[in-house]
Amino acid sequence: MASLSDQYSTLSREIAAGGARLVVVTKTHPVSVIRQLYEMGHRDFGENRVGELEEKAAQLPDDINWHFIGHLQRNKVKNVVPFVTLFHSGDSLRLLRELDKRAEDRSVDVLLQYHIADEDSKYGLTRESGRELLESIREEPLRHVRILGVMGMATYTDDEEQVAEEFRTLHEIFSEVKETYFVDSPDFAEISMGMSGDYPIALRQGSTLVRIGSKLLGDRDYGDADEAGN
Ligand SMILES: *Cc1c(COP(=O)(O)O)cnc(C)c1O
Repeated sequence: MASLSDQYSTLSREIAAGGARLVVVTKTHPVSVIRQLYEMGHRDFGENRVGELEEKAAQLPDDINWHFIGHLQRNKVKNVVPFVTLFHSGDSLRLLRELDKRAEDRSVDVLLQYHIADEDSKYGLTRESGRELLESIREEPLRHVRILGVMGMATYTDDEEQVAEEFRTLHEIFSEVKETYFVDSPDFAEISMGMSGDYPIALRQGSTLVRIGSKLLGDRDYGDADEAGN
């Protein structure tokens, strides 16, 4: 098997060539793995649980860009708001208001998470609920939160045409939201889509940020924990 370093350079080149940036998803993996990638020059890491992220961040250099990619409970916002670079899972107005309130003097960057998959999920905006959220923000602006784009997860399926269609939908939502609400904000530019199983499709549909774990780091061992945080 190729070394982590070889796999990392191949993958990061492929993703850069596709016009996106790589977020390495390190949930369940030890700090030592993050440190190895850090030493190869990587800075963008994704975690989906508050406790795990806090514990890891405390042991690692300050210039890591932490991406929070899981559902975030409002009562945990204050724990992570001081050091997370980008929240990918902005899925409700209440969460955005809480992030705004806890931001204090820093600016907090967020993506709006849309539910694009043909699977039940409690999380993620629909076009309609997204519009309501954005209208509410237009009326009562957020002071510290900057919305930088959208995020979504495709259905877990071998049907590549379906996955492409879902990513196309997310790109369309991005364009509509940009035109309607962020036409004068060049910072609204991110489309976070693509994981180990579907990132080549996501790149073809205009992804700017791919979130990859298992393809680079192998299968996750959840031990006793469940996967509900995903
Ligand atoms: C775990 C996770 C990923 C990475 O998944 P892989 O299939 O291991 O690449 C990406 N995005 C989110 C939101 C995740 O929870």
